[in-house]
Order: sequence, then C-alpha cells, then structure tokens
Amino acid sequence: MNLLVINCGSSSLKYQLINMDNEYVLAKGLVEKIGLETGIFTHDPSGKYKVVQKHNIPDHTAALNLVMTALTDGKYGVIENLNEIVAVGHRIVHGGEFYSSSVLIDDDVMIALEKCVELAPLHNPANIIGVNSCKALLPGVPQVAVFDTAFHQTMPEEAYIYPLPYEYYNKYKVRKYGFHGTSHKYVSNRAAYVLEKPIEDLKIITCHLGNGASIAAIKYGESVDTSMGFTPLEGLAMGTRCGSIDPSIVTYLMDKEGLDISEINEIMNKESGVLGISGVSSDFRDIESAAENGNKRAQLAIDVFNYKVKTTIGSYVAAMDGVDAIVFTAGLGENSPVTRKEICLGLTYLGITIDDEKNNTRREELVITTKDCKVKVLVVPTDEELAIARDTKEIITSNILDKVLI
Ligand code: ADP
Repeated sequence: MNLLVINCGSSSLKYQLINMDNEYVLAKGLVEKIGLETGIFTHDPSGKYKVVQKHNIPDHTAALNLVMTALTDGKYGVIENLNEIVAVGHRIVHGGEFYSSSVLIDDDVMIALEKCVELAPLHNPANIIGVNSCKALLPGVPQVAVFDTAFHQTMPEEAYIYPLPYEYYNKYKVRKYGFHGTSHKYVSNRAAYVLEKPIEDLKIITCHLGNGASIAAIKYGESVDTSMGFTPLEGLAMGTRCGSIDPSIVTYLMDKEGLDISEINEIMNKESGVLGISGVSSDFRDIESAAENGNKRAQLAIDVFNYKVKTTIGSYVAAMDGVDAIVFTAGLGENSPVTRKEICLGLTYLGITIDDEKNNTRREELVITTKDCKVKVLVVPTDEELAIARDTKEIITSNILDKVLI
C-alpha cells in the first residue's frame, strides 16, 4: 500500500511516498520557493540518484504536478502509474476545536478547515490548496487530514483557558491549542516502547527542540499541557521566535518604535529568539561555534534557551505531579549532546544523571541516563511523515472496513 504524505507550507511543499506494507520510504523531496521567480525542486528516490531542478513553479498545483511527474518518471521515478498511490495524508496545522484526531477529508472537513484559516492565516490556506491540488491530480483517491493541534485537544480547561475575559474564548476561540502534536505523540509512543512499558502507565515530558520548539506534558498517553499556545509563538525561546514574554512589552515597543501590527509581529516571529539575542544566527550550530569562540551574546542566547527548556520541564513535572521520562527530539534535541547535558544539569532534583558516553549520540533512539536513574532521559528521532502515513493507513483501512460492514 503506497501512501503519499504531503506537507504544504506557504511557499514550500515536502512529500514522501511510503510503502506501508514495510514502511519503506520509496521517495521523498521538497519543492521550495513556490510563487517566486525560480522554484527549486529536489527529488530523492531511494536507491537512485537525487535530482535537483530549477523551474518556474507558480503555485502548489504546479509543484504537485512536478512531484507526480517525478514519481512516475522512467529514470528517477519509483512507481509506474499514479494509480499505485492508494491515499494521501496531509499535514494540516490547525484543526481548531473541531478535531481531536486525524480524519478522512470530505466536504464538511473542508468547511472546518476554512473556518480555521483565521486561527492559522500563514499555514491553513497552503494546506487547503494542497488538498485541492491533490484532489484535482488524483481524483477519487482518499485524503486524510492529520492535525498539528489534534493531539493537544485532551488538555484540561485549566491548561488551555487564558486569564482574559471569557467572552474572547466564546467569540473568537482564543485559547491554547498547542502544535507539533504529531511529533509529541509519535516520540512519546516510541519512548514507551523503548522503556517496555505501556504508555498508559507513564508520565512523559517531550521536548521538540528544532527551529520551532515546544514541550508537552503527556500523562498516561494524553497531552495535558504544552508550551505553544493560541499560535506557535508562545512558550520557549526559538530560532527566531520570542516565545513567552510580558505582553506589555508588545504595546510598549509599538509605542516607542512607532510600529504597526505587522511590524511587531515580524519582530516577534522572525527577528527574536536566539537570533535576536545572539545577533549571530537562528541556527544553533552557528551559535554554538560563535560561543566557543568567545562570543558572549551567543553564549547568552544558549543560556536563555536552555533556561526556558529547564523551567518548562519543571512546570510540567508540577502539572503531572511527577515524571517518568523526558524525551529530546527534533533538530537540536536529536543532534546536540551539549544542549541535552546542559538542560539535564538543572534536573538533578529529579535524580537525573546523564551517561556522557550514551549522550554522545546523534539521531539515535536510546536512553541517555545512567542505569540507576528512576527518571529516564531519552533521545528519540521524530518522524512526522511516518506518523502521518500510519494515521492515514489506519483511517482508510477502517473506512474500507466500515463500508464492507454496512
Ligand atoms: P524545523 O523543522 O523546525 O525547521 P528542525 O527540527 O529541522 O527544525 O531543527 C533545525 C535546527 O536544529 C537547526 O536550526 C539547528 O539549530 C539545529 N541542529 C541541527 N543539527 C544540529 C547539530 N548537529 N548541532 C546543533 N544543532 C543542530
């Protein structure tokens, strides 16, 4: 069973074609700079040479056309015919309060996705275009929506209601939603598997530390709190995002610098975080090497980042009244032993000691605490595409079964 996983951003499109009989990735790739003068298309078929092409790619339909052509190409294709694609799984950023799990896309789902555009104006429109383009190019092929927000819909009210006048929740659905849900769910399940314990018995804190970064408190398999909020701006300091700051700073700076709404939004989303503090880069590899060379602001950016992670972990220990496992994932979480070590040095009150040899790992699934530690720390590489493909397979399989039973 071949499933196509699609992740549409505003000017990019990532894809993977996965054979779900053995979860083998047949091909993956990326279309960048959609709508700009020259788009870049990278197609990476397993066992064949990678292809990088420059094209005029005016929109997402044109991007998907390139993908479909490449997948069936005589030289670098991996299937003979598009009808070998059984279903498409889409990463959808915002499902609002409509969806707490993945869903087969029909007209009602499309209406709900439109309603969520207001909540994710940068992301959901691209996701909707991706679905419509796939419908046009693969008529009759079932499509599944897998939401970033869905996993966090189990949060209790006290975690998701903001201390604002309640009418704004009623009127505009202003509340915490949380993001990276597919990743938090995937790595927490993997952690339970590695620890050989049912997830229903575990309190897990998952730290998704990439360019965008968030932490989730997962109690007995359900998300009970997470650091991103109404938008992916809340919470940790990130590559370019400020995370949680005193809300009064926003109006203060707008007044002092004469900024309008879009300018202050740009500053908080694109010019802040570790880039803003260090003035060096949003990429931790650059910041780590600048700090090693004595750049004090680069070191400060690292310290601020680690401090926020450490204190958020502490608050989630409180939220769950304990913790059994802490998981590091995503670009930085999977690849930076130094970051993991620094953060864990502040968690000795949990009895955590890092085994330096085990911690000296990259992109590997393993426990990095010493044997005697009660609270385990793990590295688990995330795989959002595989998680989307698994959900898609489950939904279309149960849908086919439902039809047979009816
Ligand atoms: P996103 O999907 O949010 O763009 P990723 O999960 O791919 O982000 O993470 C990207 C970030 O991971 C980079 O910006 C970089 O800071 C960090 N990263 C990746 N590899 C390393 C490494 N070897 N050492 C330190 N940081 C790394």
